Amino acid sequence: MSTSKQILLSAIKPTGEIHIGNYFGAMRQWINLCKSKEYKAYIMVADYHALNFVHNADEMHDLIQELIFTYLAIGLDRDDVVFFKQSDISEHTELAWIFDTITTMPYLERAHAFKDARTKDETISVGTFNYPMLMAADILLYDTNIVPVGEDQKQHIEIARDTAQKFNHIYKDDVFILPEAYIMPSVATVPGIDGKKMSKSYGNTIPLLASREMIERSVMRIVTDSSAQRPETVYAIHSLVRSENELEKIYEEHKGEYKILKEILLEDLDAYLSPIRKRYEELKKEPGIIEELLERGRGEASLRAKEKMNRIKCAIGVSS
Ligand code: ADP
Repeated sequence: MSTSKQILLSAIKPTGEIHIGNYFGAMRQWINLCKSKEYKAYIMVADYHALNFVHNADEMHDLIQELIFTYLAIGLDRDDVVFFKQSDISEHTELAWIFDTITTMPYLERAHAFKDARTKDETISVGTFNYPMLMAADILLYDTNIVPVGEDQKQHIEIARDTAQKFNHIYKDDVFILPEAYIMPSVATVPGIDGKKMSKSYGNTIPLLASREMIERSVMRIVTDSSAQRPETVYAIHSLVRSENELEKIYEEHKGEYKILKEILLEDLDAYLSPIRKRYEELKKEPGIIEELLERGRGEASLRAKEKMNRIKCAIGVSS
């Protein structure tokens, strides 16, 4: 499909509460990029990726709804973005299969997500092992130019690039373009309240939609190191919502007063997050909004995916 705009695609798995690591690491970048006339934006609900974690139909249904309301609550505009569900476009799994046939097991064994899963759990689903192939398909199916993500996803974008190159080389046809990760260095890895990377799976998050009480509970639990000049994790989280200049002054004035610094952080986080929380509650009152959105997204994404898949099928020789 010809378009002069660059293609942007990104996604989140509906596997639990969205946290401020997801927001500052990836979602916030989406807002300005999607508004910009430079990009045609596709924001996906990665429900087939989530299927590696969620095996309950009601839970899956609710998580999908919550994620879409969150996409809208952060300020993504229905007119600027094609919102769609991965499971609605069967070409994603179809292309993942085609990529499976040109990818070796040792190559996928080097993926960080697989290595992490192996250290935690003895039994790994084929889906978890294969996750980078489905992600490569998600990206390459739309001729995506940029994928705004956090640092933890960098390797997966590299795998998508490798896979595109490999396919083009094998079939001697430039079917796929090479996508670039778009990572903001200052927020590439948002720390959790224990100082490690913030992640749903580590239980160290501050939820994006947290109530003031929940924010307070999380902030008061942030680890502090009494030997350090300033509480680094408190500062790092604070720098998400305040400029370095302002923070330098505050942390100098309250040197060593960790409780006061945390109270200021609580106020700042609550002021930043409460409008998102309010919008989310408002949106939930609009019945039918999600179905309508997904219906539109399915139509647009499907058109593009089908056209690309025809090209791919010709390249591999199963259709002409
Ligand atoms: P989680 O690790 O909590 O399960 P996901 O894998 O669903 O999060 O990530 C969704 C998006 O949020 C990805 O672009 C990912 O890079 C980004 N992201 C997740 N955690 C962080 C973090 N702590 N810092 C920066 N970006 C993050």
